[in-house]
Amino acid sequence: MPEIVADDTPCDLCGLPVKVAGFELKTAEGQKIFCCLGCKTLYTLIRGSGQNEEAGPSNISNNSDQK
Ligand SMILES: [Zn+2]
Repeated sequence: MPEIVADDTPCDLCGLPVKVAGFELKTAEGQKIFCCLGCKTLYTLIRGSGQNEEAGPSNISNNSDQK
């Protein structure tokens, strides 16, 4: 049974009307909805919100003795 989305809900990433439900994401700001998996993936990459994925390249400022 396909989910029905409110008509022309804009994708939270690209702004296109969401035709197919199922690409929702729960964030700290609430429920986001996307038009496709690509938008959802991109959004998570950009915002980095949601899951316990705080792993980032922040280990760079290692002030070690470099010779
Ligand atoms: Zn989109």
